[in-house]
Amino acid sequence: EAKEQGRARSAFYTQTLQQSAHERFELESALRLALETDQLTLWYQPLIDLETGTLLSLEGLARWTHPTLGSISPTRFIPIAEQSGLIAPLGRKLFTVACAQLARWQRTLPGLRLSVNLSGVELKSQSLTEDLAATLKRFGIAAEDITLEITESVTMTSSGGQLPLLDRLSTQGFRLAIDDFGTGYSSMAYLTQLPVQELKVDRSFVRHLDRLAHDNQEIIRAVVGLARALQLEVIAEGIETEAQQRIVHALGVQIGQGYLFARPCPAQEIEARFLRTSPPVLARAA
Ligand code: C2E
Ligand code: MG
Ligand code: MG
Ligand code: MG
Repeated sequence: EAKEQGRARSAFYTQTLQQSAHERFELESALRLALETDQLTLWYQPLIDLETGTLLSLEGLARWTHPTLGSISPTRFIPIAEQSGLIAPLGRKLFTVACAQLARWQRTLPGLRLSVNLSGVELKSQSLTEDLAATLKRFGIAAEDITLEITESVTMTSSGGQLPLLDRLSTQGFRLAIDDFGTGYSSMAYLTQLPVQELKVDRSFVRHLDRLAHDNQEIIRAVVGLARALQLEVIAEGIETEAQQRIVHALGVQIGQGYLFARPCPAQEIEARFLRTSPPVLARAA
């Protein structure tokens, strides 16, 4: 009987596996098509100076609206794009969208900066630096105004191969950020060798700050200390409450991002809410 149960269970697993393989294949074909049409775009989320409440920069986040499936999360389609080789054209396309948008915004706000996310797979593509340079040139954007966010796990697994590309991007003038910092295993020694300017503390450390989570406070305090020693900017992601904002600021974090200030939203909404005043100030009064 146990054997039969086992067989039934493994049939179930096989079925769900096939289903997910099928689903992945469907999404991959849909994504291929999406790249040729206008289903993919960027939404933007403000990065806020916690001292003054002013908007410093925006992070572009991929959004896919499928005609029948509706909106599909990047946490679902980015891995599929990475596995299918579509991440290179997708990343290039979204970088173009980002530069076109930043060029429009910089006409009225010359100091505005933008962050975009880069997949570890993109960092293996040798044409990356030339492609990005060509797009910057096309829209008259300075590399210094763009931060490339790379997750900590990527910087760590990149023993060798990917690091020369990071150095090249840095030499080109791009700012580099380690995204989801604290979830990987960066050693301090290793961090000093990376050409990064920003650390984005993962939102899992911010989430329970306003409860009795002293460990997380100590982790953030330690990251701030490390960042000061290495002269890096620290950004706290996922700030949802005023208590979290107060605590991360008290711990020495200068820049924040999260639903408390704004959810990611379309470019037009960013303009209406944040870019109408000069200097751009937080529309949501504290
Ligand atoms: P990420 O780069 O760490 O981006 C932050 C994620 O946290 C975003 O999810 C954002 O919407 C969400 N977030 C922001 N503030 C809050 C908050 O206060 N509370 C909570 N609960 N969440 C918050 P999103 O847009 O779903 O993106 C998920 C991930 O997908 C990103 O994480 C990034 O790793 C990846 N991604 C998104 N766009 C791109 C892209 O254009 N290229 C690549 N390679 N990856 C992307
Ligand atoms: Mg990011
Ligand atoms: Mg992040
Ligand atoms: Mg993340």
